[in-house]
Parts: sequence; C-alpha cells; structure tokens
Amino acid sequence: MSSTNCKRFLVAKCVVLIKHRYIICQSNKVNKMKYHIGVCMFLAALHATSAVDYSTYPEVTRFREYVQINTTTGGDLEPAVIFWKKLAAAQNVSISVVELVEGCPIVILSWPGNDPTLSSVMLNSHMDVVPAVESDGWTYPPFSGQITSDGNIWGRGTQDMKSVAIQYYEAMSRLKAKGVTLERNVYMTLMPDEEVGAECGMIPFLQSKEFASLNVGVEFDEGTPYPVPFIPLFYQDKVVWQIQVDCYGVAAHGSTFPPTNATATGKCQNVINTLLKFRDEQYEIYTTAPETDAGVYTSINLNKINAGTANNVIPSHMSAVFDIRLGTKVNETSFAKQLSDWIETSDGNVTITYLLKNQQSPATLIGDSNPYWVAIAQAAQDLGITVVPLVPPGSTDARFVRLARIPAFGFSPMPMTELLLHAVNEHLSLETFLNGIDIYEGIIPAVANLSLSDVGAEPSVYVYDTNSS
Ligand SMILES: [Zn+2]
Repeated sequence: MSSTNCKRFLVAKCVVLIKHRYIICQSNKVNKMKYHIGVCMFLAALHATSAVDYSTYPEVTRFREYVQINTTTGGDLEPAVIFWKKLAAAQNVSISVVELVEGCPIVILSWPGNDPTLSSVMLNSHMDVVPAVESDGWTYPPFSGQITSDGNIWGRGTQDMKSVAIQYYEAMSRLKAKGVTLERNVYMTLMPDEEVGAECGMIPFLQSKEFASLNVGVEFDEGTPYPVPFIPLFYQDKVVWQIQVDCYGVAAHGSTFPPTNATATGKCQNVINTLLKFRDEQYEIYTTAPETDAGVYTSINLNKINAGTANNVIPSHMSAVFDIRLGTKVNETSFAKQLSDWIETSDGNVTITYLLKNQQSPATLIGDSNPYWVAIAQAAQDLGITVVPLVPPGSTDARFVRLARIPAFGFSPMPMTELLLHAVNEHLSLETFLNGIDIYEGIIPAVANLSLSDVGAEPSVYVYDTNSS
C-alpha cells in the first residue's frame, strides 16, 4: 500500500468508526464507543504524522502553478490562457480562445468522443478569482500556492474553483492515458468573470455560435465545500436582484422641524421598515427550512445607505440598496409588483431602480426520470461517496446554462471541508483534491457514455420551471 493509499484507508476507517458511534451509543456500550474513538484518534494522530510530500505529485504541481497565476477579476487573464495552452499541448487536445468581449477570454479544451453526433458534456469552471491581499491577514501570500506539512495548499482559488478545473483536466488525462475514449465529446470551458456576474463570459457565450457548435447536452459547474461526509450537487441556483430605493423630501436648516414623512429620511424609514418586516418573515422560514433547500426563502439584506451633506442640513435625498436572493418559487412579476406597492405606500417621492434583476432560473430534474442524474448517482455509489441534491443560498454560472434550457449540475468534490470561498486563508486539503480527480474519473465517463436512446436529443426536457404559479 502506498503512503497515500494508507492514509486514505485510515481516513475511511475513521469515518466508519465515527458513523458507528451512534449505533454503539444506542446500545449503551459506552466503553466500546470510547475504545472506537480512541482508535480513531490514534489513527488520526498516525495520519497526521505520516506526512506525504505532495510537492512531488505532478497533479499538485499543475494545481499549484494555476493558483500562482493571479487571475483576480478584471485583471489580465493572458497568463492563465497561456497556462491552459501549455496543458492542452501536453495532452495533444485542441484548445480555442473565444473573446466575445475585449479582455474577456473564454478558453475551450476539446476532448473528442467516439460519436460527435451525440450532444456533448461541458465541464465548466471560471478562471477568475475574487481579490485577495496578504495584508488582510493571510498566513501565506494568497498567490503563493504554499503547500504546508499538514497536506494543505493555500491560496485564492484553491476552493473557488481552480481545484475543480485541474481535477477535470487530470481525470480526462488519466482516461486518455488508459486508452479510454468516451462516446460523447467532452469540452472543458473556462470563463473569465463569474465572480462579477458573467456579463462578458457565460452570458454572451451562451448566445454565441461557438457555444452552439458545441451541441451541449449537460453541463457541470461549481459547487461548494461542506464540512460533512457527503458532496452536495446543486440542481438549481437562487437568482439575484439588487434594488436602489431613492427617497426625496424637504431640504431645510437643521434647526427646523418638518413632519417626519416630509423628509427623505422619514420616507426611506418607511420603506426600510417594510422591507425589514418582510425580511423577518423570510428569516422565520429560513430557520425551519430544510438544509438541502435554500430555495424556500427569499433573503434580503440592506447593504448600503447614503444621505446627508452637512451635520446641520436636513438631507433632501437618501438612498438605500438592498441585495435580494429570490426564493426559487417566487413569481418575478408578482414580487416586482409587491416591491412597487411597498414603495408607493411611502408618501410619494420615492423611486425604485433595479441595479440587477436576474431572470429566475429553472431547476435540473433530479430523480429516475433524468438519466444524467441516474448516471451520476450510480457512479457515486460505485465510488462509495454520497451525493445529495441541494439548492444553495447563492448562485453560479450554471443558472444561465439552465436558463438556456440545458441541465446543469453544480458539483465540487470537497467533502469534510471548511467553507472558505472568498475567505482570507482559503486553502484545501491535497488529499481531498486528489480524491476529487478519482471521483471525476468515475463520474465523467458515466455521463459521457450515455447513448442517444438513454437521453434523447433534446436537453430541455431535463429542466423545469419552479416559479410559474
Ligand atoms: Zn466560483
């Protein structure tokens, strides 16, 4: 057994022991439970001391090199494009760069299948990362890709989502090395601006002839890590609305005393009270919502307030910005009317402006009637992992893909991992990273080998609207 396999065995053993703890507790065999936990702690200690030199793994080297490229949104992505050209050349696969908006490259690696007439599998990731500066408190520089003796790699993008891009690549490379050719074409697509709304990436790409030529039947996109022993599979995203409420009232000297409802602040206070009352109602729903479905509530946060020019002047204008994530069953027309009605009851001279108004995104069908889901679930079972369908509180590029009536799954294989997306000190266990390659090596063929008779020619039958009422 190699040292890595040995470590994996120990971790698996620990998970089994921890799971059995509950059974042992029920039968009141407390001493036995203590024994098991003791064994587990011993194994964990052994695990911790059996350091693996991950820097010798070529997969890790490629991951680290990618993390070391600063791809903060809005910056120069050319070094990342060069990086992917190098990886494509190493596997002798074709690569194309589509630039629909200047400065926003979209990279496509093509892994041809046996039957190019079948719809393809799109493995999507985004190259861009959110900003990170060492002075915010990073233990290691955020673009260092530092590997620590406890087997972690540190850096911006290690979870979101450079790990997944390299896992796709490594899984496809391994299959190729084994002489496995999949039935369907597989495309790795790499987007430039997911973190700021996809205006120059996924949104125009879905409208392009380049995308049409891929004939995509199913898309994989990002998920998030969870500190639990299963991997969530996102089948729908909540969409974003951001509104600015502007309130106008009397401008006067600070010594005067107009009625509250005549002032800009008084008018905005009415709106804020109404929207925060709605927030409280939704918060109640949130507290009892199933952990697998953040779609049952609408979140709303007051994130910006602006007013005033001087300490002794009553301001004639006040504005408030709210960030709203729509529940998946919310009807957009009704909700927009509700917002307008709330604004109108605020004694006039109040306006609402939509800074962002995403269209509701459909859901990907989960269950026996979707052969893509069945293939993923079966492959997961064969791999000994548990995949749980889930609606997350946030959103990804996959929402636009589902809007294009193509089934999409958000999946990042990072079980038992602290959520550090966008956080200071984002890092990832390299063991988890390497396990993720094995997982994709099982799941990608299961999906890419589905036949025409399995899935049909029309991907839209696997997405459905949830907000029609
Ligand atoms: Zn992401």
